Amino acid sequence: MTRPWNFAAGPAVLPAEVLMQAAAEMLDWQGSGMSVMEMSHRGKEFMSILDQAECDLRELLAVPANYKVLFMQGGAIAENAIVPLNLAGKRGKVDYVETGSWSTKSIAEARRFADVNVAASNLVADAKQGKYTYIPSVSEWQVRPDAAYLHLCGNETIDGVEYFAWPDMDALGAGDVPLVVDVSSHILSRPMEVSRFGLIYGGAQKNIGPAGLTLVIVRDDLLDQSQDACPTAFRYRTVADNGSMFNTPPTYAIYIAGLVFKWLKANGGLAAMEQRNIAKSHLLYEALDATGFYRTHVERACRSRMNVPFFLADESLNERFLVGAKERGLLQLKGHKSVGGMRASIYNAMPIEGVHALVDYLREFEKQHA
Ligand SMILES: *Cc1c(COP(=O)(O)O)cnc(C)c1O
Repeated sequence: MTRPWNFAAGPAVLPAEVLMQAAAEMLDWQGSGMSVMEMSHRGKEFMSILDQAECDLRELLAVPANYKVLFMQGGAIAENAIVPLNLAGKRGKVDYVETGSWSTKSIAEARRFADVNVAASNLVADAKQGKYTYIPSVSEWQVRPDAAYLHLCGNETIDGVEYFAWPDMDALGAGDVPLVVDVSSHILSRPMEVSRFGLIYGGAQKNIGPAGLTLVIVRDDLLDQSQDACPTAFRYRTVADNGSMFNTPPTYAIYIAGLVFKWLKANGGLAAMEQRNIAKSHLLYEALDATGFYRTHVERACRSRMNVPFFLADESLNERFLVGAKERGLLQLKGHKSVGGMRASIYNAMPIEGVHALVDYLREFEKQHA
C-alpha cells in the first residue's frame, strides 16, 4: 500500500512500520488475548510496556539517573500552567524568552500563577514579513538571577524558529536558574544534553506518537516546590512517586510512543536522526531559496529543521497550490492561520523521499505559474 506524504504539524505522520505493528497487535498483544487499549494499566502486561518505553527513551536521550521521566496528560498547553504551579516556588518569579506563538502563549498563562519577566523577545508586532523570525542575541537577555526558572520554546512549531545552541546560564549571571524547555515539536530530532536543563516537556503528537501523552523529564531536586493550588494529579512529586500511575495514564499513546522509541533505536538513534533531518531540511530550504517565486521569513541561523513555513510571492495562487499538492499526494501543507501561507512539517517519520516529492512539486508549480 502506498500512502501520501503527510506534512501535518501535529498530530503528524508516524513511521509506517510502527502503524503496521500496532495493527498486527490490535486484537491480541503478544498472546495476551487483549488489545493494549483493553488492559489494566496496573497489570503486568502494561507495566512491561511502560517500563520498556521509559527505558528506551532514557537510552535514546541519555537521561541522567537524577532525572525522572513522567508520562502525563494535558499536552504542552496544560504544562504552561503546570510548570509554574510546580516550579515557581515561594519566590514566584519566573523568566521567559519569547520567540514565537507558543512561547507567547506560555508567557500569558504563566502570568496567572507567577510574577513573569520577559527576559528577551523577538516579537515585531506590526511586521509584514512574519512576527517572529529570529532568536534574540543571548548576550542581551535580562534574566533575573533569583528567578525560579527560565523558560524557552526550543522549536516554534508555528513560526519555524529553532534553537541550535542552548544558553550558558553562568554567562548570563543566572547560574542557579534552572532552564525549562518546551520541546513538543523537536524532541528526539537530535541528541540533547539533558543535564543542562531543569525540566524538559512536550506533547507527543508531533514527533513521538498519538495526542494525549505529555512527556516530562525533570531533575529530581525540582520535585518539591509545588504551590498548594497545584492539582494533585499534576504535581510532579506525586506523578513521580506513583510511577506515572497516580491517575490512569494514556496507555495506548504510551504503547505507540514505545514503538516509536524502538523504531528510532533500530534506525540509528538520535545522531542518525539528526543527520537525516539536516539533509531533509537543507533540501527543502535550498529549493525555496533558489527562486523568488517562494519566500521564507526566518533568519537562516535559526530556521527550524522540523517546521518550514513558506509563502508564495503571489498569494492569490495559494488555493491552487494546495489543490495541486493534494492531487499529488502531498497533504496538509496549509500554513497556520495566524501566519498564513504554507508550512511543511518534516518530522522524524517523514522520509527524504517525501521531501523530494515536495521539492519536485515546488519546481513544477513554479514552472506552470511563474
Ligand atoms: C503543539 C505545541 C503545543 C501545544 O500542544 P498541545 O498538545 O495542544 O497542548 C505547545 N508548544 C509547542 C512548541 C507545540 O508545538
